[in-house]
Amino acid sequence: KKITIAIDGFSSCGKSTMAKALAKKLGYVYIDTGAMYRAVTLFALRHQLFNADGTVKEKELKTLMPDIHIRFQLDPSTGNPRTFLNGECVEKEIRGMEVSQHVSPIAAIPFVREALVAQQQTMGKEKGIVMDGRDIGTTVFPDAELKIFVTASAQVRAQRRYDELKAKGMPADFDDILKNVQERDYIDTHREVSPLKKADDAVELDNSKLTIAEQDQWLYKQYLS
Ligand code: C5P
Repeated sequence: KKITIAIDGFSSCGKSTMAKALAKKLGYVYIDTGAMYRAVTLFALRHQLFNADGTVKEKELKTLMPDIHIRFQLDPSTGNPRTFLNGECVEKEIRGMEVSQHVSPIAAIPFVREALVAQQQTMGKEKGIVMDGRDIGTTVFPDAELKIFVTASAQVRAQRRYDELKAKGMPADFDDILKNVQERDYIDTHREVSPLKKADDAVELDNSKLTIAEQDQWLYKQYLS
């Protein structure tokens, strides 16, 4: 019987690697909710909706929210989903530092969360999905049959992000990335609407010292038991 799997945790902790592997293994649909907050952020950057101090021009964004359409489409060559913003593939752009540095203030805005959570609930209406984010087990799908909360030290997470950006040939500076990871941790855990926290019934995994293969082993044990 198909179920809903919710994977939450801190930035760059390997949630998406885990979610993708699980979806592939089970034949489930994978939905990366962080990509949706990133796409809204890219839209806001392109429309100059940030003030000089990094805060968001919320009134203007609210007016433009109905013009933001996000969807996912599988890349036929890799089988991984790519993010589309108003018909344009923005998969690469939303992973860059500029979006990473602006996304958490966007994700703290209640009307942004309300709109995206509603879309996520629609996308995940059918069982057989793996969704990753910050609030999936607490807010989007509080009834998910399996909830996983992933953590790792900030150093380890920054290193992984650094390696990932380098591998993609994108600019990366370790100290900037570490600072960004720590800033997002702070904003994500302190915002008023659905702050990042472990759901009471989630199983927790600290993967600081695990290889991807070891993590997969742990995961299948969770799923199968
Ligand atoms: O997962 P990822 O690092 O791509 O997410 C980018 C940002 O989007 C996070 O730092 C967080 O601020 C926000 N986010 C969120 N709720 C989610 C997924 C992401 O607030 N469900």
